[in-house]
Amino acid sequence: MNILIFGPPGSGKSTHSRRITELYGLTYVSSGDMIRGEISRGSELGREMERYLAAGELIPDVVVNSLVISRLRRDRGNFILDGYPRTAEQVLALENYLYDHGISINVAMEIFISKEESVERISGRRICPGCGEVYHVKYRPPKVPGRCDVCGTELVQRSDDRPEVVKKRYDLYVKNMKPIITFYKKQGIYVRVDGHGGISEVWERIRPLLDYIHSQEVTRRGSGGAP
Ligand SMILES: [Zn+2]
Repeated sequence: MNILIFGPPGSGKSTHSRRITELYGLTYVSSGDMIRGEISRGSELGREMERYLAAGELIPDVVVNSLVISRLRRDRGNFILDGYPRTAEQVLALENYLYDHGISINVAMEIFISKEESVERISGRRICPGCGEVYHVKYRPPKVPGRCDVCGTELVQRSDDRPEVVKKRYDLYVKNMKPIITFYKKQGIYVRVDGHGGISEVWERIRPLLDYIHSQEVTRRGSGGAP
C-alpha cells in the first residue's frame, strides 16, 4: 500500500503518519526529515540545501526530487510519503518514478484544519532552549508557566511559530497544494479527513478509511492484478 499524506501546519499529519506506518508496516518517508538529516550530517548535498535555506530560498525541485526518489528506489513500494510532492515538478518526478516501477498510489490523504485551528495549535507551542522539550500553552502546559518541567529553563516561542508567520505558512500551503489536490482528485485517489479534534478522534476517522483501502488492495492483488 502506498500513501501520500499532507496537511496544513499543525494538522497532526506526522503523528498520524507514524501510526499508519506501524499499523501497515510501511516505510515512512518524510522529505522534511530527509532534508534536515542531510543538513545535520553535513553532506555535500546538505551543505548545498543549507545555502538555499539560509538565503531564504526554496530548495530547487531537482534537488528534492533526487533526494526523495532515490530513497523510494531502495524499497520499491509500501511507503507513506509525507511533505512530498509540493510542486508540479515534484508531481511529475513522482509520476515518472511510479510509472517506471509499475507502482501506484492508493490514496492521497489530506488532513485538513482551518486557519484559525492551525494558528491556535502552532502559535501555542513553546520550546525549551535548554533540553528541547516541546509544550503547548493550552494542550500541554508546563507545571510552572513559562518554565521547562525537565530542566527549569525559560520557554521560548520559535520565530516560525508566531501567529502572523503561521498565517502566511497556511496561505502558502493552500496556494501551493491547490493544483496538486486537483491532480489527485482527477485520479480519483484524493481523500480529505477532518483534522479537528483530539489525536484519537482524528485517528478514528483515518483508520476505517485506510482499512477499507487496504482491503481493496489485498483483493486486487489476490485476483491477479498488476503488482
Ligand atoms: Zn528543558
